[in-house]
Amino acid sequence: MKPLAARTGRISTSQTVAIDAKYKRLKAEGKDVLSLGAGEPDLDTPPHAKQAAIKSIEAGHTKYSAVTGLPALKDAVSSKFARENGLAYSSTDIIISSGAKHAVFNALLALVQEGDEVIIPSPCWVTYPELVRFLGGVPVLIPTPMESGFKATAMQLEHAVTPKTKLVILNSPGNPTGAVYSEAELKTLAQVIVKHDLYCLSDEIYEHIVYAGARHVSIASLSPDIFARTITVNGMSKAFAMTGWRIGYTGAPPALAAAIGAIQSHGTHHPANASQFAAAAALLEDQGFPTELRKHLDECRTLTLERLAAIPGLEVFPPLGAFYAFFNVQAYLGKSHAGKTVGTSMELCEYLLDTQLLATVPGSAFGLEGFMRISFANALDTLGLALDRLAAGLAALR
Ligand code: PMP
Ligand code: GLU
Repeated sequence: MKPLAARTGRISTSQTVAIDAKYKRLKAEGKDVLSLGAGEPDLDTPPHAKQAAIKSIEAGHTKYSAVTGLPALKDAVSSKFARENGLAYSSTDIIISSGAKHAVFNALLALVQEGDEVIIPSPCWVTYPELVRFLGGVPVLIPTPMESGFKATAMQLEHAVTPKTKLVILNSPGNPTGAVYSEAELKTLAQVIVKHDLYCLSDEIYEHIVYAGARHVSIASLSPDIFARTITVNGMSKAFAMTGWRIGYTGAPPALAAAIGAIQSHGTHHPANASQFAAAAALLEDQGFPTELRKHLDECRTLTLERLAAIPGLEVFPPLGAFYAFFNVQAYLGKSHAGKTVGTSMELCEYLLDTQLLATVPGSAFGLEGFMRISFANALDTLGLALDRLAAGLAALR
């Protein structure tokens, strides 16, 4: 048989998705497994969004529709960008896609060619470097240690730029760290991006989930020059607990929006109409849901930070956004249980799944060995039980 395309050798299955699949398989087998693994809000999708989808199906909206999204949803996204983010994307510069993940893929497909360098502050979401490599680009990871608040500085960015740099990917609030860039920090990064005439992909999927007075700012709102170079990606998964509906959206400069539209016209056509009707209802009707979700997640965060503080040896970064706790577990690496040594963050996560039936994600998935990520988006009682298991599992290592 002829070989697969060489690019398939440059991509591996998403570790966050793989861990979630393993958790779901164990659960389906009837095991009492708990998950602090994949990032998914535990609350249900708002009822008015579900109803809008059901009504759309009953009304017969079951045929092909516009490639870049239903006009009503694109208008709702355009108003949302103006109202909440200070961004003037017209409906023609907005693309509705099958999740923010697809929105990121579309943007990278339109921008990255063989040898292009893409700067990404690290630790970062698993998908960014994988997709850049898949497309023949080179991810240039800027290390951001915990002491720097897991944030890249303008000076680091300046040093990372070369004649081959095409794009910078920013994700604030960030997965896996929960770091949130301030307006002043974003301004200094924007200056470097504009100075070197780069593109900026700003993934703002966690914008509504911020704590302790932190405020989300869209980098594209900071000047006309940065707006002209920024692709703003967002979606319904996190703010409206709609992960399974697969709706993401992009605001992009006109030429890029047109290219993404052409790619999507051949790649996926458009996301399911029913999901788009649900998303439009979520954005247009009762907009209280993100606030309700944020309050719930704030309680989850408080419980998580209290419980992690009581576990000896962990160094925990208090997240200002998203719904993950990211912490240093090096004090436990090299220890053993039942004759088996746990040497890496991956082995620690496997050990917790095997012995405690608890799913977590290793820091290595995000480019930082010695750390672990847990998602605290859970019902409080389940979260408490899961954190008990984490504490028990770590305490049993000698
Ligand atoms: N961006 C980040 C930073 C994420 O953590 C995720 C994970 N859900 C996504 C994008 C993709 O979200 P979705 O495809 O569900 O919209
Ligand atoms: N983004 C979430 C996570 O980091 C969901 C899984 C994924 O898409 O990677 O866990």
